[in-house]
Amino acid sequence: MSIKVMKFGGTSIGDIRRIEHVTKIISKRIKAGDKKILMVVSAMSGVTNKLVKEYVDIENNIYNPEYDSIISTGEQYSSALISTFLNKNMITSRSLLGWQIPIHTDKSYGKARILNINSTYIKNLFKKYKVLVVSGFQGISEDNRITTLGRGGSDTTAVALSVALGLKNCEIFTDVDGIFTSDPRIVLSAKKIDFITYEEILELASLGSKVLHPRSVELAMKYGIKIHVRSSFNKTEGTIVLKEEKKLEKEVVTGLTSSENEAKITLKGIPDKPGVAATIFGLLAKHKINVDMIVQNITDDGRYASLTFTVPKEDQKKAVNELKISKIKFNKIHADNNICKVSIVGVGMRSNVGVAEKMFETLAKKNINIQVISTSEIKISVLIDLKKKNSALRALHSTYKLDD
Ligand code: ADP
Ligand code: ASP
Ligand code: MG
Repeated sequence: MSIKVMKFGGTSIGDIRRIEHVTKIISKRIKAGDKKILMVVSAMSGVTNKLVKEYVDIENNIYNPEYDSIISTGEQYSSALISTFLNKNMITSRSLLGWQIPIHTDKSYGKARILNINSTYIKNLFKKYKVLVVSGFQGISEDNRITTLGRGGSDTTAVALSVALGLKNCEIFTDVDGIFTSDPRIVLSAKKIDFITYEEILELASLGSKVLHPRSVELAMKYGIKIHVRSSFNKTEGTIVLKEEKKLEKEVVTGLTSSENEAKITLKGIPDKPGVAATIFGLLAKHKINVDMIVQNITDDGRYASLTFTVPKEDQKKAVNELKISKIKFNKIHADNNICKVSIVGVGMRSNVGVAEKMFETLAKKNINIQVISTSEIKISVLIDLKKKNSALRALHSTYKLDD
């Protein structure tokens, strides 16, 4: 059975006019020969944010199945609405929720991971319907509770369904023409990239670029799914995500991104003894708090250390509280979330020197202070003052000649 998977994000189905337009895209694809289409849809734009706000106004703890049950409802509505439009246009269709497929996930409510998907039911339904409209972002746990995959998770639903159906392609329709050298809403001179490697977009996505959910890229890379990111607003070719060997020209810096979802915590006056870092980060890991960037300094006399690290903004309070009530010794703790992480990414960095130097020079010229640095083979990230984010992104974009 030849099936096409197409995912439509929130803005692409943001109002009735947009849904009518998407209905036309599907209708044209069927006329052009596509036999069966599995649509994966997000909630209409703004809906999930509103649901999250309504929940957190009542309850702080988001790692709770009721949170998932509430914030997944936007997708139930949009999938049924789109299916209604398709049927009105003589395209046989029905909507499907995560649990009806079922998409089995673990029990990490709010950021659940997909364990397996049984594709039998989908295949059977395709005997009757031309189009199935699946609610993205959701699954079901072994406790029979609805789970959600983390914000932006509908991309992951789409790629996971492509894997489960044994397909090799997945189209992601969104509100920009493809993947750009930087967020085109911040860096106006950003250019669309025609081809990008899995590694590059995985770094960009993990470092804050929300154009694709990082776990959708991880899955695509693992199972060799070709992701095609394209606009639902026009017919521009979009961006193809592929393996590094297939990309002929490897730019030193392919793209840059930023993340505001960072909080910096500094512990001062920690006795400098073996095992202290293991205890601190062990405690945070026990509470499922991800630590990202880390720097340590030792006092001149070698007796005390100070440790600075970053955690996701939503975990800042919890991290500080857990450290305060723990037996870990330190003199002072300080948290700051007026910061952001700016990163440059490119597989060409592996074979080029001086990339970091150029980054630091550019920021220095703009009088931007670097608070923490972290690197990998294909990325360099720096932590800077939140107010300087846009100016850093624009300056770096031009330094690496991405404007041209
Ligand atoms: P959807 O609702 O379709 O899932 P998202 O809002 O999640 O769309 O992702 C698309 C948005 O990602 C764009 O509108 C753009 O502002 C942002 N974005 C950030 N970095 C990039 C990038 N490098 N290329 C393209 N878009 C980017
Ligand atoms: N609606 C969810 C969100 O806003 C999932 C998605 O859009 O991918 O995060
Ligand atoms: Mg998205």
